[in-house]
Amino acid sequence: MSRGYNFSSGPAALPEPVLAQARDELLEWRGARASVMEISHRGKDFIALAEESERDLRALMAIPSGYKVLFLQGGATQHFAQIPMNFAAGRSADYVVTGSWGQKAAKEAKASCTVRIAGSSESAGFRQLPERYSFDPQAAFVHLTPNETIGGVELHVLPDTAGVPIVADMSSNILSRPIDVSKYGVIYAGAQKNIGASGLVVMIVRDDLLARCPSSLPNIFNYSAQAKEGSMLNTPNTFGWYLASLVFKWLDSEGGVARMGEINAAKARTLYDYIDGSGFYSNPIDKACRSRMNVPFRLADEALDETFLAESEAAGLLALKGHRSVGGMRASIYNAMPMAGVQALIAFMKDFAKRNG
Ligand code: PMP
Repeated sequence: MSRGYNFSSGPAALPEPVLAQARDELLEWRGARASVMEISHRGKDFIALAEESERDLRALMAIPSGYKVLFLQGGATQHFAQIPMNFAAGRSADYVVTGSWGQKAAKEAKASCTVRIAGSSESAGFRQLPERYSFDPQAAFVHLTPNETIGGVELHVLPDTAGVPIVADMSSNILSRPIDVSKYGVIYAGAQKNIGASGLVVMIVRDDLLARCPSSLPNIFNYSAQAKEGSMLNTPNTFGWYLASLVFKWLDSEGGVARMGEINAAKARTLYDYIDGSGFYSNPIDKACRSRMNVPFRLADEALDETFLAESEAAGLLALKGHRSVGGMRASIYNAMPMAGVQALIAFMKDFAKRNG
């Protein structure tokens, strides 16, 4: 077997011990004499897993009481549309746009509420934070994308929304460091970066926001109805939920999000320091908002891009191609990427620069 260091932005690398455990348990899970994929979601074994995974996530993120945890489907994109239906029906919502995912979220919201852009860095090519924010005190919520996966922009400090609930798409930085959940009304994340496999969305939602969900919504789109049914209004993504439960256990065994935060900060610092000092590679993002999860970079001559990608792939450094909308390269270094992977990437980059600079 020759697994490489996988820098994919998502679906992304999973911790190897999690994959090994899933492999070992694939045919027979916890004495069920069947795979976890083959048992009823309403049976006692799966219910125990669901309850345990929620407990583990609550402990990892120190989620206060007064918040529900939902394990949903549809990808983050479905929730771009569903969130305003539930929390802003007939009202206005503020959107902060610091990259293409926030832009997509704002566009989808227009179908069910009035969308105000309360801050945008689009005119600066999403290379810095918005110069100012103008929040509407009457807004139903303020939507933020704390980490923009494509541009590599992270909000390291939350803006002050003067009490208007923050709804945060943390698809690409959930569990990457400690956060104060009580500062948020809703946190949601597609699972395919720091939680597990695609097709699962984890949502942490404050009770007062759940109370807003209009009863006129079809049940399946209604978060309050989902919460009442323990995220089992219909058959959930049981295998995705199981993988998430293994990732939560792994995170705990690695020292939790506090330790992850330290490792992620060190990984990102090491990579950015090398890029900045290389004289061959560059990262265009303002240092105040560089992402610790997604590090885009360009080569001095883009005519070398194809060679760089072919050679890095051959060296076991996978999926470094930047998003098609921005070009160049991108190294995604989520929780499952060890420091050794970042060091292997830097060693390759140094050698490539020496040969081509
Ligand atoms: N938001 C962010 C920040 C993302 O990175 C992504 C996917 N890369 C999405 C939303 C969309 O997720 P999905 O494909 O699960 O709908």
